Amino acid sequence: MTDPEIRMNRYTGKIIHALSGFYYVEAADVVFECKAKGAFRSKNISPLVGDTVEIEVNGDKGVVTAVHERKNFLRRPPVADIDRLFIVSSVERPRPNLLLIDKLTAFAVYHSVEPVILFSKCDLGDPAPYLAVYEKTPFPTLAVSAVTGEGVDRAAALIEGCTCAFAGNSGVGKSSIINALLPGLELATNDISDKLGRGKHTTRSVRLYRYGGGFIMDTPGFSSFDLLDDSEKILKEDLPDCFPEFAPFIPQCRFTSSCAHMNDKGCAVKAAVEQGVVSPGRYESYRQMYEDVKGIKAY
Ligand code: GDP
Ligand code: ZN
Repeated sequence: MTDPEIRMNRYTGKIIHALSGFYYVEAADVVFECKAKGAFRSKNISPLVGDTVEIEVNGDKGVVTAVHERKNFLRRPPVADIDRLFIVSSVERPRPNLLLIDKLTAFAVYHSVEPVILFSKCDLGDPAPYLAVYEKTPFPTLAVSAVTGEGVDRAAALIEGCTCAFAGNSGVGKSSIINALLPGLELATNDISDKLGRGKHTTRSVRLYRYGGGFIMDTPGFSSFDLLDDSEKILKEDLPDCFPEFAPFIPQCRFTSSCAHMNDKGCAVKAAVEQGVVSPGRYESYRQMYEDVKGIKAY
């Protein structure tokens, strides 16, 4: 007979939290407290929240024995394998910054993350003009209100089967939306009284919460500052691909191999903007981002 004390079980799971050298791995509907196998340190592999891992467990404790290949990872906060980034902007208080949204969508596409655009606080103003801009992109775009509950079901449906994070400036309503989705979580919302405690220097340990068949990352502090620091600039060669609605037109530019879609002769992207097929605001964001990185050379 096997002694249950020494019986090891092997599972494939997902790291939902990391703290003080322990990894909390959800597998088979249970969370196991795991240490990383010593071999990782010598190979310089550090498991991240979001990683799919192999574990060997005994009781509720275990060891991470292998990390599956990652689709993507972010440095700040350190998380792996995000499928969707919910980019939140409020229609009022504060009004949306479309350039920031476009930087975040480009950043997401660059990292193989699908952007979802949420115009929040739609009880305070009309989201229609903003929705119209993003209708011309392939990104799911919706209006939500944490106060009336409008759109929350549609946002929830987009979490199914995905690991999702929320991004956007402070005060746009990220915590309120996450709380509407996960009523038990009760993240502190950004009322003036607790603003001081939530600056961008606050260290947070990221945690994933199961939501149906997906996961939500509890990162209301996942600000655009964290995502868009200088080390994350997208090179000019890669930038057009980060605006997926340009894709059908790029092969039609007259000088396909050299067209930067700026002022180039015979640019089909520019023609699509003039015909109203590509949103002029999106194209303007592309131009600003291009100007910002045009001096940086690829190595
Ligand atoms: P965060 O910093 O992005 O996490 O934003 P919070 O969720 O903390 O919200 C910032 C402020 O906006 C708080 O005072 C919320 O009560 C308010 N707020 C959030 N969502 C809504 C909404 O849908 N409608 C209205 N009217 N106010 C909201
Ligand atoms: Zn072009």
